[in-house]
Amino acid sequence: LDEIAADPSHPRYASLLMRHRMEVGAAKGMLADSALIAHGRGEAFDYLLGEKTHAWAERAMRHALGCLIRAKSPVLSVNGNVAALAADEMIRLANHLNCSLEVNIFYRTPERMKAIIGHLEERCEHLGLSVPILGQAPNGRIPGLEGPRAACTVEGILNSDVILVPLEDGDRCEALVNMGKTVIVVDLNPLSRSAQMGSITIVNEVVRALTLMCAWLDEDLLSLSEPTFENHRSLREATETIRSGFD
Ligand code: ATP
Repeated sequence: LDEIAADPSHPRYASLLMRHRMEVGAAKGMLADSALIAHGRGEAFDYLLGEKTHAWAERAMRHALGCLIRAKSPVLSVNGNVAALAADEMIRLANHLNCSLEVNIFYRTPERMKAIIGHLEERCEHLGLSVPILGQAPNGRIPGLEGPRAACTVEGILNSDVILVPLEDGDRCEALVNMGKTVIVVDLNPLSRSAQMGSITIVNEVVRALTLMCAWLDEDLLSLSEPTFENHRSLREATETIRSGFD
């Protein structure tokens, strides 16, 4: 489908491909009505950042990957947009880290949960990988959040020490940080509440970031170490890049 949808010679190929994945995700019932608006906001920031991985983003990505590899109970959280755009990369990462994916969505309906879990299972089969997919039957709650947004599993999100939450909303990010977890956010908007709240914020397009992180998986752990990483400095560098323009 990806190949049919976009012509690789088109200058906006990567962007068109991502839009197509969102269309497929919507057709499969995986996305909330506002998902395309969130995607559009991401595209705008990606444009301003030159649609590339900057050196400061690479440092955040290396630091995040090192933390995930060293974690006792890592977990990767998946929402509708992440499932539509980056299911394969999330599955590869979870497989390498030997951890679970947990489907955790803002507007939880049984139909959307089923569609997202079905899509992840389909991609696991396609990749020939077997990764636990949690979230269907939540048995825990994230303290400090109201309603269905608090629902999670004890064996996944609740007991995790390091959690990757690409495209998370600000409140949930803050609640996870307040639980003492290392929260790794992927968000193209360095000013969003999630970006500001996260322990490690990767300001990069989610597929671009995860593809690179998957490519680093076999590197020596020491080479992933970024002992001087500071999230607030990384965020400042991102906003500086937007203000001053990029090369
Ligand atoms: P917050 O609560 O964190 O302040 P928000 O809830 O208002 O933010 P949303 O409307 O949920 O933000 O938008 C989703 C966020 O995800 C935006 O900040 C957008 O820049 C980012 N985003 C969207 N698509 C991508 C993508 N493909 N890669 C990385 N980030 C993305």
